Amino acid sequence: MLDVLERESAARGVRLGAGQIAQFGAYLDLLTDWQSRLNLVGSADPDTVVRRHFIESLALGAALREREILRPDSRVLDVGAGAGFPGVPIKIAWPSVDLTLIEATAKKAAFLEALVDALGLDRTTVLTGRAETLAHDRALRGSFDLVLARAVAPLPALVELALPFARVGGRLVSPKGSRADDEVQAAGAALSAIGGRTIVLPFDVPGPPQRLVVVAKLRETPAEYPRRPGLPAKSPLGGK
Ligand code: SAH
Repeated sequence: MLDVLERESAARGVRLGAGQIAQFGAYLDLLTDWQSRLNLVGSADPDTVVRRHFIESLALGAALREREILRPDSRVLDVGAGAGFPGVPIKIAWPSVDLTLIEATAKKAAFLEALVDALGLDRTTVLTGRAETLAHDRALRGSFDLVLARAVAPLPALVELALPFARVGGRLVSPKGSRADDEVQAAGAALSAIGGRTIVLPFDVPGPPQRLVVVAKLRETPAEYPRRPGLPAKSPLGGK
């Protein structure tokens, strides 16, 4: 399975060394072990984990690296990291990035802690909590070059949850399916309230078509955002 990973990564210009391949092997083992007690991913079948999670995350990193949105010294946040996607594969492939993972579910955050430990990742922090709360922490707010979020919320809510963490000039990036343009349309009010502007980029991954929604942070987010936990998803800005 890991040979597919090596090949698909190389095809995207990401050359993984033996140590990095071994880290992905250890990631797969730990995920399989924990999945029996905790539903971390829909399916922990190795083929699915490698293709749907490892390769997709690396493809995202490669697309962002190519556009200089991800740089070797970037301060990166993954909001709603779940079992670590896309943040951890990106950290394995570009080990000099500084990575923070935020996850609301304590058991998943415990997995992330065990993972960081097992892989020996440096400059990696796991925070247990909701983005709505943590985004008001002064050490986190407005301080990331790049905020990643995959499969966490529709764009109007996601902009409110995640964009406050980005510095002015930084980006929020989320892979989205074929409805990316509709989500961007719906996010107009959230973008103007939180202070962002969106572009949609092509995203070449195996499987169903996807696009990358890239939100540039244009100005400081007003202090009242994000609103209290649950509200961004329940009552999105600009929603009916
Ligand atoms: N990004 C991962 C997980 C997606 S599932 C992947 O692509 O595989 C969404 C995850 O986000 C869940 O683990 C959920 O607990 C977390 N989450 C949802 N809303 C959140 C919030 N407001 N703050 C922090 N974590 C959140």
